[in-house]
Amino acid sequence: MKHYDVIIVGSGPSGIFAALELLKNVQNIKILIIEKGKDIDKRICPMKTRKISCAACPECALLSGWGGAGAYSDGKLTLSPHIGGSLVKYIGIDSLESMISAADMTYMNYGAPDKLYGANENEIATISRLAAEHDLMFIPSKIRHIGTDRCITVLRKIKKSLDGNADILFNAEAERVLTSKKKVNGIRLKNGEKFSADHVILAPGREGSRWLEREARRLHLTLLKNPVDIGVRVEIPASVFEPLTKITYEPKLIFHSRTFNDRVRTFCVNPYGEVVKEYLKGIWTVNGHSYANSRTSNTNFALLVSTFFTEPFDEPILYGTYIAGLANLLGKGVIVQRLGDLHRGRRSTPERIAQGDVHPTLKDATPGDLSFVLPYRYLSDILEMIEAIDKIAPGVNSDHTLLYGAEVKFYSMLPKLSESLETEIVNLFAVGDGAGVSRGLIQASVSGTIAAREIGRRLE
Ligand SMILES: Cc1cc2nc3c(=O)[nH]c(=O)nc-3n(C[C@H](O)[C@H](O)[C@H](O)COP(=O)(O)OP(=O)(O)OC[C@H]3O[C@@H](n4cnc5c(N)ncnc54)[C@H](O)[C@@H]3O)c2cc1C
Repeated sequence: MKHYDVIIVGSGPSGIFAALELLKNVQNIKILIIEKGKDIDKRICPMKTRKISCAACPECALLSGWGGAGAYSDGKLTLSPHIGGSLVKYIGIDSLESMISAADMTYMNYGAPDKLYGANENEIATISRLAAEHDLMFIPSKIRHIGTDRCITVLRKIKKSLDGNADILFNAEAERVLTSKKKVNGIRLKNGEKFSADHVILAPGREGSRWLEREARRLHLTLLKNPVDIGVRVEIPASVFEPLTKITYEPKLIFHSRTFNDRVRTFCVNPYGEVVKEYLKGIWTVNGHSYANSRTSNTNFALLVSTFFTEPFDEPILYGTYIAGLANLLGKGVIVQRLGDLHRGRRSTPERIAQGDVHPTLKDATPGDLSFVLPYRYLSDILEMIEAIDKIAPGVNSDHTLLYGAEVKFYSMLPKLSESLETEIVNLFAVGDGAGVSRGLIQASVSGTIAAREIGRRLE
């Protein structure tokens, strides 16, 4: 059996940054990266070229492979310790801020652009004041936008720098974490092949979160609860959000709804971008992209409500799947509705959508009625927040605004982790979105670095 100092499962940003950090700190280190998807240039979604159902792919080319979900993400690096993860809980604000800067620098070294949004303090203060006047909390953050197209180039360059310095296995799915006496000692693949290692970093992303949860249960690790985020994707003319997006690129706004006192937030704002469908383990949900080198005339963003279930029900993933499944059942996929139709209690039809001023960038969403999909509580929260945002960006609450549903964000069950993201099994680390500690590129990248630094110290 081949032996490694460190095995990394998953080649998304968290796994990649773990490898980069280990190579920087430990001489002659032997690293194996195991990835169930394909190398970056072989990640081709068959839907782009042929009429084929997503269910036909054993691994989703958009979410799996070199770069993970990050490869086809919008590539917005959100440089705030308060956004995109919970690492502040593990390493404190000062360390996190400095590690975010270092990760940002690494992305720039590999080709991320210089331009930084949200750096002008006066403009940011103006947005904060305006938001506060209308019951919205604005979370300022500097943002670097790589863009989906440029992400691929950055990832190619990183891969090139790792070639020859780490073994990378593609189309290789980790099936079992091997342990003995509460200490990790390797990984077994689905095809039965085994590799031994002194340290293992699990970085399987959302795509592999259920696998990680299953392994955590089998290994009797303590699991902590996470919420599920449910909502819609809003699409408006880009000019409506331009006063905000030209300053901050991604306005992060939080609102506490009047009726239910729920926390509603904007998420993943894509100026001049497009709405896309996402296929996750049997269901269609919505998401958004924007490109560095091409533009649409619309901006889209998600409005999400987080729900923590207590007892007797504690299956947030099942609940989110059920809501998205309802949209799929009624709309044979994603549903799109004009806000004006929703207000008037009627479904949208292809004719009503065609008459609207906002032309949908997602062409195969089905015009329908989201009030049959989203529970009253979520709809009411979302409509109240749209009214509030309209005060700082007039035009958002227009009849022509499009709502796509359902957008659902699942978070993994969180394994109990130490400050260096080590599980209760010695030398077994869990990082990134799959471990529930991040929800974005920057904190995912930093989480890999945290685990790698600790392993580096132990190897020294
Ligand atoms: C459409 C979209 C747009 C996004 N836009 C942004 C954005 O603009 N800004 C931002 O900050 N974030 C964005 N995100 C989120 C961001 O992509 C993720 O937070 C980030 O990629 C998480 O990194 P990760 O390393 O934890 O996991 P991932 O990137 O998901 O990578 C995990 C990898 O592990 C592999 N894997 C899983 N299980 C196994 C197994 N058992 N064996 C072997 N390999 C396995 C998977 O195939 C995958 O390649 C977006 C996500 C999506 C889907």
